[in-house]
Amino acid sequence: MLLIKNANVFNGHDNTLLEAVDIVINQNHIQTISHQPINDAGFEQVIDARGHTVMPGLIDAHVHITLSAAPHVLDTMTREEIAIRSAKIAEGMLMRGFTTVRDVAGNTIGLKTAIDSGYATGPRIFPSQAAISQTSGHSDYRQNRGQQRRNGHEDSPLMKTGAFAIADGRSEVLKAVREQLFMGASQIKIMAGGGASSTFDPLDTLQYTLDELKAAVEAASDYGTYVAAHIHTTPAMKRAAEAGIMSFEHATIMDDDIAQIIKEKGIFVIPSYFTSSLIAERKIPLGSESLYQKTERVGKAMLKSAELIKKYEIENLCFGTDCVGDLVVHATQPHELEAIEKVFDTITALRMATSNCAKLFNLSTYQHPYQEGKLGEISEGAYADLLIIEGNPLEGVACVTQADKQKVIMKDGVIYKNTLC
Ligand SMILES: [Zn+2]
Repeated sequence: MLLIKNANVFNGHDNTLLEAVDIVINQNHIQTISHQPINDAGFEQVIDARGHTVMPGLIDAHVHITLSAAPHVLDTMTREEIAIRSAKIAEGMLMRGFTTVRDVAGNTIGLKTAIDSGYATGPRIFPSQAAISQTSGHSDYRQNRGQQRRNGHEDSPLMKTGAFAIADGRSEVLKAVREQLFMGASQIKIMAGGGASSTFDPLDTLQYTLDELKAAVEAASDYGTYVAAHIHTTPAMKRAAEAGIMSFEHATIMDDDIAQIIKEKGIFVIPSYFTSSLIAERKIPLGSESLYQKTERVGKAMLKSAELIKKYEIENLCFGTDCVGDLVVHATQPHELEAIEKVFDTITALRMATSNCAKLFNLSTYQHPYQEGKLGEISEGAYADLLIIEGNPLEGVACVTQADKQKVIMKDGVIYKNTLC
């Protein structure tokens, strides 16, 4: 049993702090939150929070742990090298205060299991396993036309690691989705339109017919879970909404119609403001100039779409960084909070990185890997995934993003950082 004394609490939801409480951690859960002081006696460890703020561990709903370099560079690595790099990336996430992430393209089930059983250090992972797309879609990461398919599938080395899968037609889509579910995917990721970082598919392309999208949703929902789609344009989003896709990754180029549909259907939107600004500044390596141009278009549109998100009061918004690259690129992860704060406001940024993600992840139902407590909030019975922050996050996220203000990082009741003692 562990006692945290003298804490204020941002609970992941409310725009006011709970003041001056003591918190009892029993193994990996929050047992009690008390306004009455609790006696230290009998506790194995006591942390005096000194009036700092306890808040839920951060959650990133759009990561690519295994993509620790540009795709054409990953193509030159062995799977073992990619695995070792992934473990290091995951450790960095936890040490930045991210206690849970959703990976949306990568063979992360082994890393997830290793972390959960103490063989590696990192956040809880909601794996999607391979991101599925049509031939010539955003997951078709063959780097050149010399890799034309003649007999069977000629996947690129990166595709062979299990980060991406190709499926065409209803029956192949059903099979590809079921294969990811067999591997332990907690949700399914598909590519439902053109990509900014992929070489051969223009941004405005529609990818997957309505029937193929419906096939993906059917196979996922039969397993109690949902489909997340990489998607940029309004026509692609309209088709995906009709198919029943519940998580729109990027959703950059919206019009009023689709914003209203998103609101009505309760579809979750996961924008990435900071990463696209990094790419626009050429700080993330991409394969060619045309890829930078696609990304710039997306970056500008995203800010316009943010106005529609406000206009139609879309509340199902989640924090997602979409970092692809080395340790330096991944280290920018917390800056997305500052970017969101600028686009929306402080409480929206904080909810997006905590309770909103937990709400999205609950759509995984029986495929949800962490069912013994709540994530993304500080409440009795929730998992003991928390940060102790010097400062009041509700007055600005800067204190959350600065490493020296993150005094304590706890995940699953285990302390990974403590500079208060
Ligand atoms: Zn992504």
